Amino acid sequence: MLDTMFSEDDVIFKKELNSLLDKLLPINWDHYPDETDDFHWELSKKIKLSLSINNWIAPSWPKEYGGGGKEVTKAIILSETMAYRMSPGNDRFATRMIGPTILKYGTSLQKKKILSEITSGKVQWCQGYSEPNSGSDLASITTKGDYNEETETITINGTKIWTTLANRANRMFILVRSLPGSKRHQGLTFVVLDMNNKGITVNPIKNIAGKFSFNEVVLKDVKISSENIIGKLHEGWKIALDLLNFERSGIDYIGWAERCLDDLISYSKKNRLNKYEMIFDSGTFKKSVAILKADLESAKIMTYKAIWKKSVSDDIHMEPSMSKILATEINNKVHDYALEILKDKIGFIDEDPQNNFVQRILNHRLFFVSGGILAGTNEIQKNIIAQRGLGLPK
Ligand SMILES: Cc1cc2nc3c(=O)[nH]c(=O)nc-3n(C[C@H](O)[C@H](O)[C@H](O)COP(=O)(O)OP(=O)(O)OC[C@H]3O[C@@H](n4cnc5c(N)ncnc54)[C@H](O)[C@@H]3O)c2cc1C
Repeated sequence: MLDTMFSEDDVIFKKELNSLLDKLLPINWDHYPDETDDFHWELSKKIKLSLSINNWIAPSWPKEYGGGGKEVTKAIILSETMAYRMSPGNDRFATRMIGPTILKYGTSLQKKKILSEITSGKVQWCQGYSEPNSGSDLASITTKGDYNEETETITINGTKIWTTLANRANRMFILVRSLPGSKRHQGLTFVVLDMNNKGITVNPIKNIAGKFSFNEVVLKDVKISSENIIGKLHEGWKIALDLLNFERSGIDYIGWAERCLDDLISYSKKNRLNKYEMIFDSGTFKKSVAILKADLESAKIMTYKAIWKKSVSDDIHMEPSMSKILATEINNKVHDYALEILKDKIGFIDEDPQNNFVQRILNHRLFFVSGGILAGTNEIQKNIIAQRGLGLPK
């Protein structure tokens, strides 16, 4: 079925993209993209510029903004292939989140400025939603965005947290409480800002895998012009939620899971289970891999469906949440099974070059704990499916 989803032109695009990545990625590149690392960051910038030259940063956006003007399948292929290749340079905050949001809600000036800048490959975006006391309950945010009618400016004061790549980003989209005294989802405004603005302090935070992938961002009297408001003043909630649906329909987890499974199969053909048997020849191994592969394919189809449906309809309530749960869970299951196979090697990581693979899977599994948390926890996605999707009572 999956083969029939993609045209011959899509297959050619995938081949061309892979050839470009062959040229740009170091030989045998097998690191999870981590743009907080200086080498990955430089590589990321180089890859973005090369994608930009080909109009591939956002293959499905209109040509007038530097997009490829092609079908959504090209955007799916781009993200899935880059994840499979573990390539840096796919700024999902830009192309998957703020870009589609601007296309939908931005003024023509905002579209021209923001989208063209993204497709130039010269910017990195980050997302300022979560706050120290507002995670799952996003409607409780307190970061202030005081609007001054005379000067037509907003002054922002507050703290955002877990802001991925804020230490690298030069642009941020952020939700602020613009109507003083307003409660919950009323009185919120969605704005974009330049990270070079005066009053922004970025404090990196170390994650469980020992990396500084996210940050605390303190905003003190940060002044921005009203031109940076997306949609209407005090009416940012709907836009913020819509962006989350774009975020949750990502294919990256599927690409990472598939790569892990394929690499595990290669490993199983070169390594023994015991004196008599290669890992690959074990019936238990084959059965486990077959089950994982089947689950992976169904998560993939669900994700394709969510991306496609979001690209053609506003009437979408639960597919992004369903795909987010399935994709993050299968990615963890695949990595857990790989660790189960590799567990005896974990203590000997430094002694055996083969064990780079063991180290990688261990590091990735630690990092992917975050999959069930970021973009709204999987528990929250289940609430959304039950309430907004199936209409069940709270
Ligand atoms: C790696 C990583 C990167 C991130 N990057 C960003 C980023 O770039 N920008 C950004 O804004 N945020 C980012 N986040 C933050 C993320 O969005 C929040 O962590 C997430 O929304 C959960 O919020 P919280 O951590 O405050 O947990 P809480 O909301 O305190 O939840 C704690 C637990 O309670 C459960 N829970 C809470 N409410 C309910 C409910 N109503 N029903 C059932 N269960 C419930 C949750 O599922 C969770 O298990 C990132 C997080 C991680 C881990």
